[in-house]
Amino acid sequence: MRVVNSPLALQKLLEEEQGSIGFVPTMGALHLGHRTLISAAKNANDIVVVSIFVNPTQFLEGEDLDAYPRKEEADKKVCELSGVDYLFYPTVASMYGTDEVSLNAPNIRGYIMEGTSRPGHFSGVLTVVNKLFNIVNPTRAYFGKKDAQQVMLIEAMVTNLFMNVEIVAMDTVREKDGLAMSSRNAYMNEQERTEALYIVKSLRVATQMVMKGALDIAKIKDEMLHVLKPLEVVYVTIVNRSFEPIDKVEIGNTIILIEAISGTTRLLDNIWI
Ligand code: AMP
Repeated sequence: MRVVNSPLALQKLLEEEQGSIGFVPTMGALHLGHRTLISAAKNANDIVVVSIFVNPTQFLEGEDLDAYPRKEEADKKVCELSGVDYLFYPTVASMYGTDEVSLNAPNIRGYIMEGTSRPGHFSGVLTVVNKLFNIVNPTRAYFGKKDAQQVMLIEAMVTNLFMNVEIVAMDTVREKDGLAMSSRNAYMNEQERTEALYIVKSLRVATQMVMKGALDIAKIKDEMLHVLKPLEVVYVTIVNRSFEPIDKVEIGNTIILIEAISGTTRLLDNIWI
């Protein structure tokens, strides 16, 4: 595995490679969720590139940019053992200049849900993913459905900007008790970690309602909010897979999304129905 810090050096190295490139962009503190994306990239491509970059432009003022877990040595080992060919580990200064051209998230889909609680967050995500795609020029790029709104916006960017990359969305990897794996889970103490499971419970309740034929969005949301009472709920939203509002669950075309805070930790989860 080669660890490359310079964007231009990586671009040059990858231009010289033959075959398909599978790319997994991450912010590090790698867990089994990331490793699942890396395995999928490995299975379908000749070369696997992983990036680890805690991207400052997607953090708002006062968020956890400085506190975000950084585990350089452990992450390098994970990548090496997972058969990664290139680990891209850039500095902020090498990725961003001053007075830059940047991308804006779409006015509606980029400013609902997580985009409401974190205005501008998705513009930062799209800007950095665009840069990373231009450096790596991947055949396929792998993202987690856990960040459903992020995947939808990246797919929109690829379509809107006529980018030549296949986006592969992977199912959420969970802990044994159902909690969605996240680098931010490490922020929680035992009690907060236990309370976070109300998120999983509320998604189970919603799934059970749908299985029994209760498809009314308002009723499902009410039940979920009842289960989520011990947490600070930022939103519970039920939309179709184009992220448009719906009144009734459409089986095969619905996503139920939650953002809730346990202690001070912002947690996202969702289920695709
Ligand atoms: P992050 O390092 O949190 O920015 O995540 C990097 C990529 O891994 C994103 O595409 C995430 O959606 C994905 N990811 C994070 N957690 C999980 C998980 N539990 N299961 C599957 N993918 C995940």
